[in-house]
Order: sequence, then C-alpha cells, then structure tokens
Amino acid sequence: MLLFTPGPTPVPEAVRVEMSKPTLHHRTPEFEAIFKEARESLLKLFKMREAVMLSSSGTGAMEAAIINLSRGKTLTVNAGKFGERFGKIVKAHNLDLVELKYEWDTPASVDDVLKALRESSDIDSVAIQICESAGGLRHPVEEIAKAVKEFNKDIIVIADGITAVGVEPIDVTNIDALIAGSQKAFMLPPGLAMLGLSDEALNRVGEGKGYYLNLASEIAKQEKNTTAYTAATTLIIGLNKVFDLIDEFGGEDRLYKVTKARHKALLEALKSLGLKIYPKSPALSMATIIDENAEDIRALLKSKYGVNIAGGQDHLKGKIFRINNMGLIESGDMLWVVDSIESALAELGRLEYSGVGAKVFSKTLKLELA
Ligand SMILES: *Cc1c(COP(=O)(O)O)cnc(C)c1O
Repeated sequence: MLLFTPGPTPVPEAVRVEMSKPTLHHRTPEFEAIFKEARESLLKLFKMREAVMLSSSGTGAMEAAIINLSRGKTLTVNAGKFGERFGKIVKAHNLDLVELKYEWDTPASVDDVLKALRESSDIDSVAIQICESAGGLRHPVEEIAKAVKEFNKDIIVIADGITAVGVEPIDVTNIDALIAGSQKAFMLPPGLAMLGLSDEALNRVGEGKGYYLNLASEIAKQEKNTTAYTAATTLIIGLNKVFDLIDEFGGEDRLYKVTKARHKALLEALKSLGLKIYPKSPALSMATIIDENAEDIRALLKSKYGVNIAGGQDHLKGKIFRINNMGLIESGDMLWVVDSIESALAELGRLEYSGVGAKVFSKTLKLELA
C-alpha cells in the first residue's frame, strides 16, 4: 500500500533500519553526541537562535509555544482544524483569545490581522499555521509576521510549520517560534516535536511556564546536549538519518526545488482530469481536491490500486481528498497516484481513460526540473 496521506508520511527504509539498532541510554556521552548532531542540523534548518526537541506529537510544541510565549491576549487564525486547535489551547490555559475565522479554503489577510490588532491593544502574541493542513491552505505568514512586527515589534509571532518546515524555505525574519513535527515532512514516526525560537522569544520565555512543556528548563538542558526528561532517543537517531538522506539527495535547496516542481506537476495533472483544487492558495505540502465523489475515489484507490490518500474532516468530511507531497517521494509513485485517480474517474463514468493525467504530470515535472 502506498501511503500518500499528508501525515503520517512513509518512513524511508534507511531510517527504519537505523532506528532498529539496540536501545541507548539517554544519559550517556554516546547519546549526547547524537543529540548534538540533531540539534545542529535543526538550528541550520530553522535558521533561528534556538531549536528545542520535545517528546510529543506536534500539538505538544503548539501548547509549549502558547504557554511560554503568550502573556496577555493571543490572536489566532482559524481557517481549519489546526488553527482552531491554537484557540482551544489558549482557552484551556485560561488565556484571553481573539480568533480570526475564515472558510477553510481562504487564506488570512494582512488587513484583517492589522484590524484585529488595532481593535485589541492588549494582544501580545499571534498564532497561525503556515500551511493549514485541514484544507491544504497556505497562509501568507511571512507578510503577516512583517506587518505584525511593524505594528508592534513586541508582539510574538508563533508559526505552526508542521506541514511547511522541510517543504519550502521559510523566511523567519519576523517569526519568533517555528513549530515542526516528526511525522510530516520529516518522514519519521510520530512522537517528536521541534520548535525554533528567536532571541525575542527567548527573552519572553524567561523562567518559563508549565512543567513538562516548560521551555526554560528544556533549553537549559538542551544547550548542553541533553534533555530535561527522557529524550525520544529512537526518533532523534532517525532524525539524523533523515538529514543524511536529505544531504544525499542534494541538500535542502534541492529538496525544496523538487517538492515545488512535483506540486505544480500534480496540480496540473489533477486539473487535466477536470478536478477542482480546493484552497484559494494551495500549500506545497499537499494537493486538496473538492469533489462530490471524493469518498468513491478514495475507496477505489485503496481497494484497487493500493494507494491510501486522506479525506476531509468536520464539514468537509466526504467532500475533499488530500494527497501528500511532503518528503523524499519517488516521482514514479506520484505518477501511479495520478494514473490511479484517472482510472477511478473512468470507473465512475466521469471520463474515458486515456493516460492524460500521467502524461501531464511527467511533462510538467520534466519542464519544471529542466
Ligand atoms: C499534523 C499537524 C499538527 C499536529 O498534529 P499532531 O497530531 O499533534 O502531530 C499541527 N498543525 C498542523 C498544521 C498539522 O498538519
């Protein structure tokens, strides 16, 4: 079965083999050397002052950022499940919340954010997804972050990059906290969250808040290449292997270039089959299609062609399907996904199979990478 859900993504064989080696104790010089290597790779990738690893799924890093960085009122952008989650975390900690709500296909606008900031002068942090995975939507986070800092440089910008870090280069000039998770673009099993922090954020963290997710106590340990509590040793060993694989592939810039090219090819191919792209500004991490036969297409893909793609949640359940574009994906695998979708559409009587999807995919990908 080809796993093409936008998280979890397939774990490459070399990473699985690396993680199958005998267990190490975390309080040893051997593991500290492994931790140091992972930490340095993350600092390089994030291009930020600090990089913290947490033993939790991605939501743990979202909660850590809110607890440690939000003081007064937090502005969250809710254009889907994950933006909604930021709001729920803020409320769970009895912090004040202002929520900007959008349809799941609609990116946040700089004007709306500025208007909200003008209306509530006590907002001291803004939390937003770079890619809102519920609809595969890319928010203009870099522009929003710039406008926020111009409005008031003391407002902290928290960016959930769980389906963006490792997918595309992110300009972190005005971002204070950048969140990543192991099971999306990092091609690892779930359980490791990563958090990049700016100087501004480190000042705000101060003595930290919370207990397990207290960033001050974690940072003090992680600067010495160890962790406050038991590290996710196996996942960190896997993370180093992921960085090796990316290096072997030609480095992060080549990964970004190929990911972008494959995304364009995928979207062009799906459009050539008469399918409709759901978000108004599609993120590079996935392709989201809105279609009345979404569930039939998913079922056929799974039962006849061995391809697992994701559906929608909440009001989009049964109305959309989402195809992963994160990680080191074989072009041939994506070609098969496209061809299978065309076959499924033919079986549903929507078109006559001609192989046009695969043709458009190959042609576009080759042009983009030429
Ligand atoms: C997957 C995801 C998360 C985190 O989910 P976990 O299940 O806690 O790992 C958060 N934000 C976005 C945008 C995601 O795609």
